[in-house]
Amino acid sequence: MDSILDRPIQYLTGIGQKRAELLASEIGVATFGDMLMHIPFRYVDRSRIYKIAEIGDELSSQYIQVRARVQDVGIVGHGAKARLAAVVADDTGEMDMVWFRGIKYILKKLEAGREYIFFGRPTIFNGSPNMAHPEFEPPIAVEGQEPVGMQGIYSTTERLSSIGLGTKAIFNAMRTLWAAVRDYIPETLPACLLEQERLVGRAQALHDIHFPASAEALNAAMRRLKFEELFVIQLQLLGQRRVRTEKTRGYLMPKIGDYFNLFYREKLPFALTGAQQRVIKEIRGDMVSGHQMNRLMQGDVGSGKTIVALLCVLIAADNGFQSAIMAPTEILATQHYRSITELVETAGLRVELLTGSTRRKKREEIAQGLLAGEIDLLIGTHALIEDTVRFARLGFVVIDEQHRFGVMQRAKLRLKSTGLPPHVLVMTATPIPRTLAMTLYGDLDVSVIDELPPGRKPVRTSHARESHRLRLFGFLREQIDQGRQVYIVYPLIQESEKMDVANLEAGAEVIAREFPPPRYTSVVVHGKMPARLKDYGMELFKEGQAQILISTTVIEVGVNVPNATVMVIESAERFGLSQLHQLRGRVGRGGDQSYCILMTGDKLSTEARRRMEAMVSTTDGFRLSELDLQLRGAGDIDGTAQSGQGIEIKVSDLARDGALLEHARSVAERILADDPHLEDKRNVLLRAALERLNRKKQAEVDLSQIS
Ligand code: ADP
Ligand code: MG
Repeated sequence: MDSILDRPIQYLTGIGQKRAELLASEIGVATFGDMLMHIPFRYVDRSRIYKIAEIGDELSSQYIQVRARVQDVGIVGHGAKARLAAVVADDTGEMDMVWFRGIKYILKKLEAGREYIFFGRPTIFNGSPNMAHPEFEPPIAVEGQEPVGMQGIYSTTERLSSIGLGTKAIFNAMRTLWAAVRDYIPETLPACLLEQERLVGRAQALHDIHFPASAEALNAAMRRLKFEELFVIQLQLLGQRRVRTEKTRGYLMPKIGDYFNLFYREKLPFALTGAQQRVIKEIRGDMVSGHQMNRLMQGDVGSGKTIVALLCVLIAADNGFQSAIMAPTEILATQHYRSITELVETAGLRVELLTGSTRRKKREEIAQGLLAGEIDLLIGTHALIEDTVRFARLGFVVIDEQHRFGVMQRAKLRLKSTGLPPHVLVMTATPIPRTLAMTLYGDLDVSVIDELPPGRKPVRTSHARESHRLRLFGFLREQIDQGRQVYIVYPLIQESEKMDVANLEAGAEVIAREFPPPRYTSVVVHGKMPARLKDYGMELFKEGQAQILISTTVIEVGVNVPNATVMVIESAERFGLSQLHQLRGRVGRGGDQSYCILMTGDKLSTEARRRMEAMVSTTDGFRLSELDLQLRGAGDIDGTAQSGQGIEIKVSDLARDGALLEHARSVAERILADDPHLEDKRNVLLRAALERLNRKKQAEVDLSQIS
């Protein structure tokens, strides 16, 4: 069925082919329907006009309008640096307006001596207000228009603005669009649901989201669109889970045998925490349920997830099944391999390591051992999901540090042996807020380790600037002289890799000078080094022969050196909160007081400053993840993009809409309880909505397989 909403956007009056191409590539708008879903990211009250004297810091970066007379206007500077500057004034003061693009065109429209309404975001520079690229109109034109009240502000991009699609132009295009589509907007939710949830209809909601007549209308529109978005996602996730638990049979592992018992009684070096015991019970429950397990284990850094996974591997072995542990980096895989072989040394379990740098001959040996069922546990990196790796009887798979792996890879691991799919345990050290977990991993069961092993002292965190560097060195010397070790981490970001490596090397030189051998030894490790050198450096540090490890984020996950008590993070403002927290988790693993020092430049954005404050204020990963969500919004949270769930959240804000999300989930649960396969006539629209979502997801998965 052809709908006007599927019509390519180039056919909208005033758009055309060139703009259509940019709309698609810049903001993903290809059709009338896409455009309709390009909703304002904020609204301004256009009935209010500010006085220039009122503009202060608190208004800076909000959209406002002023009514002011142009006193002087002209081009300043030459060539590429040329800009158009105007001084404007109302009866309370003066401000500067400036344009960097479209100068000639604006110069023609803007006359000295005349009055205009200027609309834009003010900033305060040297104590006085100015606006870059304001929109402006003579007051008469504004007064003549139908009253706008709230006006939507649309996100746009530099390139779109440069071809005449700034926020105002998008607003105008939206009006044209609305006139064309208003009579063809189908309702997507069942009438009974609308009534029960007191939601406005879809057409009404879409109208009001773009052209709200009042704050109430806007709120009702928002609520309707958000509810629908969250509800359909939950309906789908819960549906998938239902299908999985109903249909996917899983291996039965009822036996607790020698592997587990001997280890538990004789080798386990400590008592499990209550949380660890609880999670093992939850996993045990899945292993005897007859259904395949898909479980997410969340736990803060250092909460002891590895041992939980290992105990489950032992249960699998007791029941005659092989296991695999997949880690995101070679260093981490190797580390798991070492600590696990050490632990299960005498248990008679055969454990092997497979990574990108495993030699060909060893590879073949492993391949045979797996097929013959002689290898009980294979630990490795992505190398595990290569097609050549096949197991005789793979029963249990652990994926460490979920945010690095997508759903596709999880799926691939499931195909590793004939027979039933293995149980899958996904471990993540990046606690994610409940709302996000419900959305991203709604199809998984979730276990939480919310208790740290006893005797841990919380890491003391401080924020320092360049001027404190000498004191920092003094402190490091003190710690090292007490026999402790120190991490110094530098950011490494793809785009500026060369510069970052240069920074790290410069930093390493300073350290070598300040901490000279033979008394001190520092090693440098970064991702661009050959694995052999990396391993060698790590080894020196792990054995305590080097006291200082200078590295990029390669040590971000998993490294465990209990004697390291100081984590210095250079250019800390360039890391996200969850990364900072991960890094901090590398210390505080022994009994000694540990420290984390966040080094930043002197000038910080407000957001970066808040991040530093958050780190200093708490060591609770779950609390930090909530703060992170609030600071950055859900779209940016680590792992969201790579989650591979093909979930797109456009209208809702997971940081704020937690309550609505939970409500939507409970409504979805209720509907599925009554009508599990959505076969009831009442639910026809819901089924259609799910089919649309699945088609879209399928298309995305196909794409990701190609790339
Ligand atoms: P993570 O959850 O970050 O993967 P690990 O599994 O690496 O944490 O555990 C961190 C450290 O805590 C390891 O040295 C581990 O041996 C130790 N550990 C784990 N559980 C306990 C416990 N119940 N009591 C004491 N130490 C523990
Ligand atoms: Mg770990």
